[in-house]
Amino acid sequence: MSLRVVLMGPPGAGKGTQAKRMAEKFGMAHLSSGDIFRAEKASGSELGRELAGYMDAGKLVPDDTVVRLMAKAITSARATGGLLLDGFPRTVAQAEALDRQLAQAGKPLDAVVVITAEDDEIVQRITGRRSCPACGKGFHVKFMPSAKGDRCDACGAKLTQRDDDTEAVVRQRLEAYYRQTEPVIAYYRDSGRVNVLEIDGSVAPDDVTAAMVEAVESLARRG
Ligand SMILES: [Zn+2]
Repeated sequence: MSLRVVLMGPPGAGKGTQAKRMAEKFGMAHLSSGDIFRAEKASGSELGRELAGYMDAGKLVPDDTVVRLMAKAITSARATGGLLLDGFPRTVAQAEALDRQLAQAGKPLDAVVVITAEDDEIVQRITGRRSCPACGKGFHVKFMPSAKGDRCDACGAKLTQRDDDTEAVVRQRLEAYYRQTEPVIAYYRDSGRVNVLEIDGSVAPDDVTAAMVEAVESLARRG
């Protein structure tokens, strides 16, 4: 089976983890826009320098640059299981460009999978994250606490929290996500050409994976 799937979901809903698992399960190429941007930037190519200019200044990368990069990645993807797009498309213009590219190749999208989670749940997940600066072990104050309180139970170092794991920053990122992404989901729903599947991301990660696998397999059977 070869499927082309767009994966969407708010920051903190576990999209990255789920994308890796799905890609592995179905032998799909996992095309993460974040990874692709970082690799291009690191390559020092002309496009990479252009990207660096936007990213280092904290600016949004323009649609045509994003589309050029992702089109290149899609064209060179060789996985037999198909494509899993993660972090792209992020705007309606990008979604339209993707549709054109896939239509030209005669391989349209099969599904848009949206992982959902309540804002408060996401805030709780992200603001509770802690990590050990010495050995790298990760914790969560509620879901995976250290046996030694605010110290690492593996090596004893004092646990730290990322500066941007605060409620204010998380809420801001969620707002940006909804503002940007809702029109993209609406675009796909209105197109009537692609299945938009919502997956409840508030359950345990393994259950999210199981629900996604089931949804994608039933889609493949229909297709
Ligand atoms: Zn440690």
